[in-house]
Amino acid sequence: MSKLQWITDELTNLREAGLYTQIRTLGSAQGAWLVVDGRKVLNFCSNNYLGFANHPRLLNAAKQAMKDYGLGPAAVRTIAGTMNLHLQLEERLAAFKGVKDAITFQSGFTANLATIPALVGKGDAIFSDELNHASIIDGCRLSGAKVIRYAHCDAADLQRALDEHRTNYNRAMVITDGVFSMDGDIAPLDQILDVSRQYDAVLMVDDAHGEGVLGEGGRGIVDQFHLHGKVDVEVGTLSKAFGVVGGVVAGDPLVVEWLRQRGRPFLFSSAMTVPDVAACLAAVDILEESTELVDQLWENTRYFKSEMQRLGFDTGLSATPITPVMLGEAPLAQQFSRELFENGVFAMAIGYPTVPQGKARIRVMISAAHQKSDLEHGLKAFSDIGRKLGVI
Ligand SMILES: *Cc1c(COP(=O)(O)O)cnc(C)c1O
Repeated sequence: MSKLQWITDELTNLREAGLYTQIRTLGSAQGAWLVVDGRKVLNFCSNNYLGFANHPRLLNAAKQAMKDYGLGPAAVRTIAGTMNLHLQLEERLAAFKGVKDAITFQSGFTANLATIPALVGKGDAIFSDELNHASIIDGCRLSGAKVIRYAHCDAADLQRALDEHRTNYNRAMVITDGVFSMDGDIAPLDQILDVSRQYDAVLMVDDAHGEGVLGEGGRGIVDQFHLHGKVDVEVGTLSKAFGVVGGVVAGDPLVVEWLRQRGRPFLFSSAMTVPDVAACLAAVDILEESTELVDQLWENTRYFKSEMQRLGFDTGLSATPITPVMLGEAPLAQQFSRELFENGVFAMAIGYPTVPQGKARIRVMISAAHQKSDLEHGLKAFSDIGRKLGVI
């Protein structure tokens, strides 16, 4: 038997359990509509909250910067030097978020892998929301610190966990997603901060889905709760609302300085590329000039959610543009998603183990790039299929 036979077996298991991931191939840029397999479909899947993934100003900024700086950083920043473009982006992101310093990474995922092991290790403890993102979970594992999970978004349970375990460990860190990507609910950051302070724990929030969405003009969850300068570490991504790719850590300048010395993905992996950085700089320009796109995102969100509720759909606990349409069993969610696609609407079914058994859903991602007529088209498809399948 081949030494890789086990992979064939595992893949067969995945297919039989309906858990094998089929990836759609796109023949167009990200936007309100996509070309998938030669067909135009309404895009309800992407994290392109503000339409920046194909925004003319970001494209132009990227082209201009390539003339001056070329394409790649050509080595890690600590060895070949850093471009002033990267420093500019870090300064601008820090100012945008109202903190003193920021550092960029290749992605949000690597930002978490850099940050957590740099701040805690053996003999320390991490108190982590039970629904935190996979990159936080991996960062926690890499750190070697003891991981203690607390009940989702439950500051009282966090307090219980800290009370029970804090004294057994040296340093402590509390980590939460800002916005939880499957339900679209928001962490009670003010309460979590209060509890963290009582127990002398560093607080880190991963605001990947809050950046460009929450707070004044998209300044994120810390701004939404008016906690500037109080949250030690704010991790973010430049690949969701910012529409490009990259990660950022903003917050206490001491933490940022430490990450420049000890963040392993910073020290051992090359930086964001030139067009990425330039495009992100243009995104900050746009966000600082006007709240128009963020306002449009929220207007679209309110309209779509209220219409879905009027139709009789259950949109769960969401307080953000992430709109789960709760359907219960995974086969129903999958059938719903297939029928939507046949009706020209691309929206993903999400089931176990990404969400609990019996909580399968379609997840609709609203964007400022959607026109009202796009949302109406989507609502009509949901309404027709919902009736056909007996959901509403
Ligand atoms: C998407 C996401 C990430 C990963 O961000 P990338 O920039 O795509 O690597 C990290 N954390 C959370 C909470 C996310 O939702």
